[in-house]
Amino acid sequence: MYRSHSCGELRTSDIDKQVTLSGWVQKARDKGFMIWVDLRDRYGITQLIFDEERTPAAVVEKAKTLGREFVIQVKGNVIERESKNPNIPTGDIEILVTELEILNEALVPPFTIEDETDGGEDIRMKYRYLDIRRNPVKNSLMFRHQVAMKVRNYLSDEGFVEVETPYLIKSTPEGARDFVVPSRMNEGQFYALPQSPQTFKQLLMVGGMDKYFQIVKCFRDEDLRADRQPEFTQIDCEMAFVEQEDILHIFEGLTKHLIKDIKGINIEHFPRMTYDEAMQTYGNDKPDIRFGMKFGELNVVSQHKEFKVFNEAELVVGIAVPGGASYTRKEIDKLVDWVKRPQVGALGMVYVKCNEDGSFKSSVDKFYDQEDLSKWAEVTGAKKGDLICVLSGAKNKVRGQLSALRMELAERLGLRNPEEFAPLWVVDFPLLEWDEDTERYHAMHHPFTSPKPDDIPLLDSKPGDVRANAYDLVLNGNEIGGGSIRIHDKETQALMFDHLGFTPEEAKEQFGFLMDAFQYGAPPHGGIAFGFDRLVAILGGQETIRDFIAFPKNNNGRDVMIDAPANIDQEQLKELSIKLDI
Ligand code: ASP
Repeated sequence: MYRSHSCGELRTSDIDKQVTLSGWVQKARDKGFMIWVDLRDRYGITQLIFDEERTPAAVVEKAKTLGREFVIQVKGNVIERESKNPNIPTGDIEILVTELEILNEALVPPFTIEDETDGGEDIRMKYRYLDIRRNPVKNSLMFRHQVAMKVRNYLSDEGFVEVETPYLIKSTPEGARDFVVPSRMNEGQFYALPQSPQTFKQLLMVGGMDKYFQIVKCFRDEDLRADRQPEFTQIDCEMAFVEQEDILHIFEGLTKHLIKDIKGINIEHFPRMTYDEAMQTYGNDKPDIRFGMKFGELNVVSQHKEFKVFNEAELVVGIAVPGGASYTRKEIDKLVDWVKRPQVGALGMVYVKCNEDGSFKSSVDKFYDQEDLSKWAEVTGAKKGDLICVLSGAKNKVRGQLSALRMELAERLGLRNPEEFAPLWVVDFPLLEWDEDTERYHAMHHPFTSPKPDDIPLLDSKPGDVRANAYDLVLNGNEIGGGSIRIHDKETQALMFDHLGFTPEEAKEQFGFLMDAFQYGAPPHGGIAFGFDRLVAILGGQETIRDFIAFPKNNNGRDVMIDAPANIDQEQLKELSIKLDI
């Protein structure tokens, strides 16, 4: 038996017990006549004491050889500790060791295994198994497990069945590139790893499963933006015989339950906003509504003077920054530089200081008088002491830029409190989205999303105006879930593929299986998928998902620990009938 107790378990009520513990040496202090060792496992830390007078000499000698992270087993008696440590649950006791076995020695770890480590990100990724020994990472993984259990229990109680769907499939067109896997037995052919189980979960509905869920890995070969992983986890769900309202109801319930259970915060009802409203008010389809700084559109009150920049702009739009009137010239110049960075891309920024005495001072005083500026303040909701920041240009671009500025300022002003939870449903997404590069419409969500029946006639005349039965759940400015009511008849699906530029042959070749299935009694259905990694991170009060993933990849999509991706040998390539030409 390696252990009778864990390292987090013993208390004063255990004094005088004979125990066996196993774990890692967190640290050893050798005072000559006495050696103390902190023994650590997943459950906690217990202090061991080797005492020349009470511990056999050979054991003391062996204890002197212990190094950090050695794996050891000890037997001994639980005794009361002289100087107690109120910071740890085992702090009232220690183990007077009588036997010591070194189960495995350890090299000196390349960084300290402490809550605050001296190791940088790269080295910790390379030795992730050591990083996992640290409390912050270990606790994050345990937290993830808790959230997964709560999700499973909740959905199972609601009648959902977890069904596994295959990983070796054919492309699912969700907008990203597929990871592909060559097939040895089918020369020259490839599987794709699922970007999501989308078509399978729809087929499960045709199969009568009624309520499906799966906590499932998805794979997308995207250029990695910060904090994205090429493989990530979704809580994927689908339901039959439902309308949008049913889905929102169930998954609002799940999210409320998680926030209540984990954070103790009760949220009565999640607000809703249409996509158009979100874009207009926050410049973003996943607005963080924990704070204001709502957009005020200034075209009407700014395009009547000689200021060409504004007059020529499709949209002139501003936000009021609380307390910003006190910014110095230098601080404002820095803000202007910030919006001009290539990542944001604004050409410049106009600002108005709303002084405490009710007057205004702007960077465009040459063109606008006090009355004009007071209207701007009205439209943006600026109060005395605020700073109005105004951007102008093409609608879509300028909204994105001002949204970036709004988020940045909120961050600086400390308005993004991780302990506050502001969920929001964004509904009525457009069905289609114009893609500048390919010069055609793409499905904004995916090609299986149903248009709103009333909007179907617009498909030919104004495809961009057709709204979908699609919705996102946003939490604190992050999209944590998205889904839609699906098309469930062959004709509408064919119509949709047609509008997405598929020939009937292409549609049949790629999705014949789904269209066939629709002819065998497909029920009306819809669903949603939550980004599990992000949900866990937010509930854990953090914005980075990496610490909540046991073995994450770096920004280049590499696993630096196992050094993947890697070359494969000629033999393997030959078996797969792949000739590399590099
Ligand atoms: N498959 C979709 C996604 O991954 C979610 C859904 O429509 O249910 O975003």
